[in-house]
Formats: sequence, C-alpha cells, structure tokens
Amino acid sequence: MPIPKYTYNGPIDHTIPPNLENVKNKSVIVTGGANGMGEAMVRAFVAAGAFVTFGDLAIRGTEIEKELNGPDPDQSPKAAFVKCDIRDWDDMINLFETARNKSPCNSVDIVIANAGISRSSGDSLWNLDDPNGPPTKPDLKIVRTNMDGTFYTWRLAVHYFRKQPETEDRDRCFVITGSMVAYIDSPGNWEYTATKHGLRGFMKTVRRSSWEQGIRINYVAPCWIKSAIRTKEYETWLIENGIEFGEQADCAGAMMRIACDKSINGRSLMITPRSKAQEGFMDVNQEDYADPKDEYFIKKQTTQLRIIEDKWLDDYKVWEEVPVPETPANGVLIKLLASGVCHSDHSLLTNENQRPWFQDKYILGHEGCGIIVRIGDEANQFGFNIGDRVATIAVPGCGSDDCPECSRDLAQLCERAHHSGIGEDGFYAPYAALTTRAITLVPDNIPSSVAAVATDAVKTSYHAITRRAEVKPSETVFLFGLGGLGFNGLQVILHIGARVIISDVRQERLDEAKKIGVPEEDIVPVGTSVQDFVRENSLGGKIDTVLDFVGKDQTFQDAQAIVRRGGKMVCIGTLDDTNVIDMKIGIRKRLSIIFTYGGQKRDLQEVLDMISKKAIQPQVEDAKLKDFPTVLKDLCDGKIKARVALVHDD
Ligand SMILES: [Zn+2]
Ligand SMILES: [Zn+2]
Repeated sequence: MPIPKYTYNGPIDHTIPPNLENVKNKSVIVTGGANGMGEAMVRAFVAAGAFVTFGDLAIRGTEIEKELNGPDPDQSPKAAFVKCDIRDWDDMINLFETARNKSPCNSVDIVIANAGISRSSGDSLWNLDDPNGPPTKPDLKIVRTNMDGTFYTWRLAVHYFRKQPETEDRDRCFVITGSMVAYIDSPGNWEYTATKHGLRGFMKTVRRSSWEQGIRINYVAPCWIKSAIRTKEYETWLIENGIEFGEQADCAGAMMRIACDKSINGRSLMITPRSKAQEGFMDVNQEDYADPKDEYFIKKQTTQLRIIEDKWLDDYKVWEEVPVPETPANGVLIKLLASGVCHSDHSLLTNENQRPWFQDKYILGHEGCGIIVRIGDEANQFGFNIGDRVATIAVPGCGSDDCPECSRDLAQLCERAHHSGIGEDGFYAPYAALTTRAITLVPDNIPSSVAAVATDAVKTSYHAITRRAEVKPSETVFLFGLGGLGFNGLQVILHIGARVIISDVRQERLDEAKKIGVPEEDIVPVGTSVQDFVRENSLGGKIDTVLDFVGKDQTFQDAQAIVRRGGKMVCIGTLDDTNVIDMKIGIRKRLSIIFTYGGQKRDLQEVLDMISKKAIQPQVEDAKLKDFPTVLKDLCDGKIKARVALVHDD
C-alpha cells in the first residue's frame, strides 16, 4: 500500500492506544536489543505477536532469546538473537538475513535502529590534551558508532523492505532511537549530541522522499530513562535536582504506537515522565514550521521543496514487459530503430500538473524513427509500404474540420489525437502504433538516430524560426543558447542566410558554432555582458529578432534591451518558470513577444529534406535504449553537449 507524500498535519495523537493486531506476524528488527530500552522493545513486540530479530554486542541476548522462545521445541519461535556490531557491515547483513529467513512470512517490516553509545564510552573531543605536547587525534568512536551504524541499518532496511510487495499486511517502517539532546543543550556531551542532532536531521530529509518507496521513517527521543545500571544514590540525587524519569516500557510504547499505525510518518516522539503524558510519550512537534511568526522559514521550506526535483525512484524498474500494440485501421505499426531523449522527458517524469489526456501510466519517448511492419486495413491509400523507414510526429493532431486547433492549422496543440510519449504511449518501446498523420518518410541518406532527433529538436527550432520569427535573409538575429535545439536553430538561420549573433555560457558550444561558420565578431565571449557587447559593437537598433532558446530571467531581460524598435522576441526555452516584461520597453519599442511550441508535419518534411541535402547537420550521440536513466540524468546535469538518440536492439 503506497503511502502519501509527507505533509504536516499537526502532532499525532499519543492517547490513541496502538492496535496490536497490526504487528502480529510482522518481522521486527531491533538493534541494541539485549539491554535497557532495546530489551523492553524486543519483549513488547514479541508479546504483541511479532517475530523479533535482535542484535547486540552483549551475549546476554542468547539468554533472552531462549527465554522468549520457551522450553517447548515444537512451539514456533518468536525471537532470534544475532550477536552483532552495528559498525560491521557483514554482521549487519547477517542480522537482516536472519530476520528474513526465520520470520514466519520471510519478511522485514519494522526496523528499529536503537543501538548506539553515549558519553560513558568517552567523548574524544571533550578530553583536553597537553598544549605543549603533540596534538592527539580524536577517535570519534561515538560518532562512528551512532552515525555509521545507523546508516548501515538504514541502508539494509531499504534493501530488505524493497524485497517484499507493498501490500496491506506488510510494512516498511524505520524508527531511529534519538535523544532529547537533539532539542535541548546538554553540556559536555559533544559527540553524542552531534550524532543525535544528525539523525534527527536525517529523518527530516528522508521523510521528504522515503514515501516514494513506500517507506516511513520516524524518530523517538528518550531523555532520562529509569535504568538498573545507575546506582540508587545517583538516581536520588538526580531526582532531587529536578530530573523526572521516563519508563523503559514507554520507549517500547512509543515504538509500538508508530509500528501499529501506518499513517505515522516523518514524526518525532519524545519519551516523557507520565506526569506530562499518561502514555509516557508524545509528539515533539518541533519538526515543522506552522506558526505565522516563522513566515521566513515557511517560505524557505516551500522554495526548497519546489526547486529540488530529485525523485527516489528505481532505475531498474523503468522497464517492464508490455504487449505489442494493435495496428490501427487508419494507421501503421512501426518497429522502432531510434528514439531521441529530450529534456521534456524529465519534465514529464517530475511534473505533477498533468494535462487532461494524460494516462496514469504510459511509455515515454516522443521522438521516434522506425520501420513500418504492419499497415491497417484503411491505411493502404496513403502510399506507405511495409519496410518503409519513417520519422514520427508525436502530436499529429486529429485533422478534423470541427477541431478547434486542427481547423486553425495548430495540429501540435490538438487535444483529441494521440500524444506519443506525452501522456500516452510513445517510443521507448520496441513497437508503436500510429496513424498515418503521425509518420513521414525518411530519405535514405539520413541515419535513423538523426531522423529521430529531427522530429523534435530540429523541427521545433525550424518552426520557431521559419513560421514564428519568419527570419529573412536580410535580417540580423540574436540567438541565446546553443544546446540541442539552439544549435540546430543556428544552422537553420545560417541556411536562410541571415546574420546571427550568438551567446552561450559554454565556450565549447561557441567553438562548435565557429566551426560551422559563425565569424568571431558575431560571438559574444563567455563572461561578457550581452548588453555591453551589443553597445560596443554598434549593434544597437540593428537586431531584428531575438531567439531565446534559454528562457532565463537574464536572457529575457537582455532580449528586451537589445532588440530593435518594432522587433520580435521569440521564446522557445523555459528554464525559468516566470519572466518579467518591462512594460515601458515593450510598448515604446512596440515589441512582438512571440511564443512557439512544437511544429507540424510539413515542418518535419522540410527539415528532413534540408538534412538530406546537408544544409543542417544535427549533432547526435548514440546510446542504448537501456541507458535511458543515465542519459536523462546526464542531460539534466548539462553533460550532454547536443542531443542523444537511443538506438533500439534488433
Ligand atoms: Zn522533446
Ligand atoms: Zn485536432
């Protein structure tokens, strides 16, 4: 059962008694389970009917295991002890393997990262050394144990959680035993405090993503807990100084409350004296900003969540078996040869504002080239033959006279027809079904990967330049951004014969442009202000059209400043979601600010013709279809200089 994205809904109600039925037959792992709080947790979960695998350095665990399983060898076991050091990776694998092998459902459902050490083991930062002797290197043993050990536990928990299906009767619940020193200052407790703060921070960052793998994470913060280890005298002294103890049983109670309620995610519970909360624990309620006085933090948090797009998704799950689609009566079935990877694949994977036709699940890839393998019964009269190599149009439009878009020659905006790879099945698959409106023949001398890339990266640029900007040979054009689309756009403009001034932040892209014939004086050097360049080179009032393949605030501002009076700005790139128009400039210059989107079949046909005649040579790198996740990541990280086509296996 998937869990929802983390949102703050107020503190959890600690007074609700846990429904112990929910942990029956679950497999629970507790580290540091042979003493104190950990032991209390082990006993509580066994009593509730869970199978508990617990690790500890203390061999006492063997006795606890024996006691919990009872003398009757026919009775099914309830617990397993594994002697282990949380800093030892192999020990930890053994712990998780034991849980999986011995638990009744061969699962790992609940993992409590409880083991850790405290100042009593010696704080290596606190101890002063002799300033006149050599400096002593701290061993940082507390940090190593509490951090590395918990991270090993987390890493393995994620691995083992994901072995089992996300069903109603299973869970993926991780709980960290933290400390109240993550909320209050505890002098002299340097390493320990750093680790417990660290783990609290870890919980907060993880809760923003863990739901994507169905995993929930929570933090439990004990403070002073009654313990048999302390002397009676010391305990009395503590009480006299205002310490109110929490109960070991309530640490187990807090863990149980979390384990029994799958809706609890991203919370921190603190163990309290029962005088504070009858149950001995309650929500700390300090992990989120909700108070209007925290407006600044609320805003910062919102922005942070908006700009970080990382998804905690599984690259290995990108692919799955799908049936070969039916051949449409008015169309064809093609076997894909190559498909282009586009930055919009990333937007499609991450954008939550889906458009009306979007299916819940579909095959990505909107730039394809393939061979016709079947032709529908009603598609014979269009002149296509089996074996023809065709390029695809992702949004061909329905072509109907009563379609509001197609009837106005805006097929790329049609909402009625199929949208390959944009909300509906596309080309990262061996086969695709298409209407004849969505295909056009590819000249023999064009490689399939080039044809695939032409369908979007070249066609979109071509449409922008010829249909929207209507660039003429006599004009001067300024072009921002020589990426996948921009570099093709540059070639189209050069082919038209217009003068083009170019700007890009990457020197190697400018070098490439120089190689295909852009003179030095028309290249804005990296680091030079565009507006200065235009002024110093007497280009003021001469730039007829600015083509913005970038769409950032800076390029949009520059464009308004440098374009001539009565000129045009054509917006193609959208790196910034919003840009500002200077109304005074816009009106006084009587500017035309034009947007462009995609292109049409005739654009693609003209583009293929130009490529065939070598008027445009799109830069394409080949990769394998299975490399899609890596290619997309490289594309987003700016590591791909132009465009990548995925070549399909035979
Ligand atoms: Zn695209
Ligand atoms: Zn239409």
